[in-house]
Amino acid sequence: MPQSNSLTGQKVVLQRDDVFQLLTALRERGYCVIGPKLKRGAIVYDELNSGADLPAGWTDTQDGGTYRLQKRRDNALFGYTVGPHSWKKIIHPATRCFWRAKRNGDGFESLGQEREPTKLAFVGVRACDRQAIAVLDKVFLEGKYVDPTYKSQRENVFIVAVNCSQAGGTCFCVSMGTGPKATFGFDLALTEVIENGAHYFVVEIGSTRGAEILGGVPCKEASSEQLAAAKRVVAEAAAHMGRQMDTTDIKGLLYRNYENPRWDNVAARCLNCSNCTMVCPTCFCTTVEDVTDLTDDSTERWRKWDSCFTLDFTYIVGGSVRASALARYRQWMTHKLATWIDQFGTSGCVGCGRCITWCPVAIDITEEARAIRESEAVRKEQHDPHT
Ligand code: SF4
Ligand code: SF4
Repeated sequence: MPQSNSLTGQKVVLQRDDVFQLLTALRERGYCVIGPKLKRGAIVYDELNSGADLPAGWTDTQDGGTYRLQKRRDNALFGYTVGPHSWKKIIHPATRCFWRAKRNGDGFESLGQEREPTKLAFVGVRACDRQAIAVLDKVFLEGKYVDPTYKSQRENVFIVAVNCSQAGGTCFCVSMGTGPKATFGFDLALTEVIENGAHYFVVEIGSTRGAEILGGVPCKEASSEQLAAAKRVVAEAAAHMGRQMDTTDIKGLLYRNYENPRWDNVAARCLNCSNCTMVCPTCFCTTVEDVTDLTDDSTERWRKWDSCFTLDFTYIVGGSVRASALARYRQWMTHKLATWIDQFGTSGCVGCGRCITWCPVAIDITEEARAIRESEAVRKEQHDPHT
């Protein structure tokens, strides 16, 4: 059994049901374990009270505007891709009370923040979502202004990554260089192998505390055959991506195409519902609301997720900066794939496909990027057919 930090980077094997003991070991060390669970017709991230909460034998099928659960033929514990939730909902929650105060005589007494950080274990973090957490870390932890509430929660997260064994119909992590294998920033990374009657997990140890947690869980050194099987699982997922995104000079492409007629086309279809920004694991925009009660005895300041798809988001001095649907979709997609790179040194898109699956009219960021690239190529051909 792993006992020391010298085991970081080593790979061991856990039998399927021994994953339940891993969850128990995390709970015994004080972690609140969050992982995949069936809820209201989807696989979402929620507190796991035991291994029985995992979506054993379930998978999802996804396409533009479509998400369905299905029974699998096997009893896989992590045999799905990603659902509507991302880890953003926990480390950057949809609503957060920053401050509250109550009247005290002629003045006010500050009651401070709503809650303290909890020790959390994220179980089932996909490679694309691990990259999304890294993107949020850049936004909230790097640069001049650090978000103290994000920082205190983020420092209390133990990450159990799970490499993908299948790709969803809207996944394109391979194009974005973010998956399907987790390569950094995990305490443990699991690959689920089901073949020839065997069902086990190859576990890569990513940190000292990862090795310590495994110390109380029955595992064995991985054989060369088991390591090869885990590699095949990930290669199979990589070979079956539902979508592709050509990222060649994507920043320049979008900067050159602010006036492309394709923006009119997508604006005619977009409902401005903001689903895409809500499900996106990296969209981080918020608004702030101050709330006072009717008696004027208490007041609260809340931060809430906002979206660049709403008119209010850019409302200043009597009007919205981005008044049209065209301007709002163009802003979102250009930020994700181009201006984000200037702002944070990385793409704002990790290729998870959620915005495609959960768009009610199946608008597809890969298809929109392709259409803009193709129309630019046609324009070039018409202007200079000899280049
Ligand atoms: S833009 Fe779409 S595919 Fe990219 S990270 Fe956000 S939700 Fe996922
Ligand atoms: S692209 Fe789709 S999900 Fe996003 S705002 Fe438009 S209709 Fe809604």
